[in-house]
Amino acid sequence: MARVFFMLDEIQKAGSDFDSALASANEVKALADLRVRYFGRKGGLIPALFGQLKDVPKEQKKEVGDALNKLRDRIESALKEKSDRATADESARKTSRDTIDVTLPARMPHLGNLHPITLVRQEMEKIFREMGYSVDPGPEIETDWYNFESLNFTPDHPARDTQDTFFVDVPGMLLRTHTSNVQIRSMEQTKPPLKVISCGRVYRRDEITMRRSPMFHQAEAILVDKGIHIGHMRATLEYFVRKIFGGDPKFRLRPSFFPFTEPSAELDMSCLFCNGNGCGTCSQTGWMEILGCGMVHPQVLRNVAIDPEEWSGFAFGMGIDRVAMLTYDIPNIRTLFENDLRVLQQF
Ligand SMILES: [Zn+2]
Repeated sequence: MARVFFMLDEIQKAGSDFDSALASANEVKALADLRVRYFGRKGGLIPALFGQLKDVPKEQKKEVGDALNKLRDRIESALKEKSDRATADESARKTSRDTIDVTLPARMPHLGNLHPITLVRQEMEKIFREMGYSVDPGPEIETDWYNFESLNFTPDHPARDTQDTFFVDVPGMLLRTHTSNVQIRSMEQTKPPLKVISCGRVYRRDEITMRRSPMFHQAEAILVDKGIHIGHMRATLEYFVRKIFGGDPKFRLRPSFFPFTEPSAELDMSCLFCNGNGCGTCSQTGWMEILGCGMVHPQVLRNVAIDPEEWSGFAFGMGIDRVAMLTYDIPNIRTLFENDLRVLQQF
């Protein structure tokens, strides 16, 4: 009798031990270990208990055997249920790792940047568009007439020498040395009043230095209307330069010479870097040369059949590269044309 109670006690204890062990086993691996502990062929608790059944007196065997069978079935089904659930959870976790997480920020395709020259050109065009100017880049390969002769360059002008200008194989054709060719083309195409800005590449036979390149970029604007005088020019240019560089610089017009304007001038602005006090960038003068300008020469108007008694206008030309260098603090013009991605990606 004692043996039976002992066995029944042991079965009950095995049941409650299992319940607490099951409660703390949550992973598939822990549950598998638990199964080995209860059903393992070597030292498994359930087989061991069944092994003891042979020592139970014959008349008690049924009671103990029933209790043991019940325990085995209960443990087996509890283990199976929890293992199935843990396996499903684990595979769900793994699947969610492999699927797309729509909350992740997207990997954006790498977009290119606009070149600093393009940024400055677009800004210049925008300012003049707002003032009602139309935009015309004009041709880069030009005839002698549009690049020189119609603009009053005398036949012996040094700019017409092969020392200074790139001529192409076709006689009379050349790479334009300035965007002023667009002045003539615009005045031919449009009857005044007209307002045109032209930005583009120009070419001169120059050595490559820190400041010079045989190919560079110019912006050029022309306005022709009735009663236009130098005050209109100055107001337009000061407005434009303030828009481009910001701040409130001082300006001065210095007399100069261009064959296609009369009078001609250079517009200087007080140095951006030292406010006119003098520094290395402005060679201690406090002033920076910004652009060349002037009133359209009467002969240039006559060359395109516009009566200078009735119409007058102004024109100006400006280096885009120089503005980009000043705006973005680029000391060497070559930096603009080397296409070094480390530089270009900054814009
Ligand atoms: Zn300065």
